[in-house]
Amino acid sequence: MLKINENFAKLPANYLFVEIADRVKKFSGQHPEAEIIRLGIGDVTRPLPKAVVDAMVQAAREMGEAETFRGYAPEAGYDFLRKAISRNDFQNRGIDIGPEEIFVSDGAKSDTGSIGDIFDTDNAVAVCDPVYPVYVDTNVMAGRAGEFLQGGGFSKIVYMPCRKENGFLPEIPAQRADMIYLCFPNNPTGMGIGRAELQKWVDYALKNKSVILYDAAYEAFITEKDMPHSIFELSGAEKCAIEFRSFSKTAGFTGVRCAYTVIPKALVFQGASINKLWGRRQSTKMNGVSYVVQRGAEAVYSEEGRRGVRENIAYYLNNARIILNGLSDAGFSVYGGVNSPYVWLKVPDGMTSWEFFDLLLEKAGVVGTPGSGFGACGEGYFRLTSFNSKENTEKAVDRIVKTFAK
Ligand code: PLP
Repeated sequence: MLKINENFAKLPANYLFVEIADRVKKFSGQHPEAEIIRLGIGDVTRPLPKAVVDAMVQAAREMGEAETFRGYAPEAGYDFLRKAISRNDFQNRGIDIGPEEIFVSDGAKSDTGSIGDIFDTDNAVAVCDPVYPVYVDTNVMAGRAGEFLQGGGFSKIVYMPCRKENGFLPEIPAQRADMIYLCFPNNPTGMGIGRAELQKWVDYALKNKSVILYDAAYEAFITEKDMPHSIFELSGAEKCAIEFRSFSKTAGFTGVRCAYTVIPKALVFQGASINKLWGRRQSTKMNGVSYVVQRGAEAVYSEEGRRGVRENIAYYLNNARIILNGLSDAGFSVYGGVNSPYVWLKVPDGMTSWEFFDLLLEKAGVVGTPGSGFGACGEGYFRLTSFNSKENTEKAVDRIVKTFAK
């Protein structure tokens, strides 16, 4: 008889955003007149920069002519894009990452979710708590997480609490950690990490022969000077880290799909080149990203593309500021939002994250994301995103403030 992968049975039944959608649908059914403002899901709303659209239109035309038609793309990406990434995101910033250390893909979700393929299932996985759920769920699927525990969490995962007391930054765990997932600027807390703080992790990984899986999907939102945009700015990181980047939140590619993963050639474990292993994995399981999309991604680095990206990021960061200022003036404790599109809000004492969610939906018609959905340490917090319009963001903040006015 066919047997399924029983690890899937250990996954939480309902994905967080499905539960949110269900509750919103129910509320809308009961209150069809209510105008709901969504500051929940982390999807962008601003249109693509014009330079990106023009490049994709031009590339689509090329595909329609016999002389310029292209079939399968190279699995790791076209040279023109790998070179543009290497030059603009690394070499020009003094970081020695070459094109052959860059693997273009359809998303940081796929890459952070699949990277475990090349590592043994006995490795101990460490994640921040709260955490972007993909890191945990994909390790559950792979059989690396152990059993689901009564109180929540998995028996073999090392959870690193990120609370107000430690500035929402993970501390080196007491248990051994082989695969360490770090995400900065962080989803969901919106916190960035300073150079000295991140160096501690690099030193730990070097000393313990661990790998850091560094998700920098929100790098473009960094505004503070001391914050590294890439883990490879830090000494020794090329020997212990893999970095995931994405055009999704930077350039509005959530629907277009393009990202890349950086694996330095110096990254070697047990005599094996991790760059080669990942290349082998990718060439077996994927057939590249479309030519049209890669030309669009290349245009992100043109002068006009950069301007478009800067404007969009500034727009979202301004929304984040509206949320931060509006809610802190009203007496809420709010975090993040300065180097990130996410604001992490402390819910009023005595309430759970889901109670706050229901109250906010009912009384203010505003949808956010309950912190507990990202892990046990997210309980008592709430994530608001800056991806809506300025008008809706202002309106939502105004409604929240009025709802809780004493
Ligand atoms: N990594 C983090 C931390 C994210 O929050 C997201 C999306 O929300 C992703 C990765 C997914 O990026 P992509 O659209 O490139 O798959």
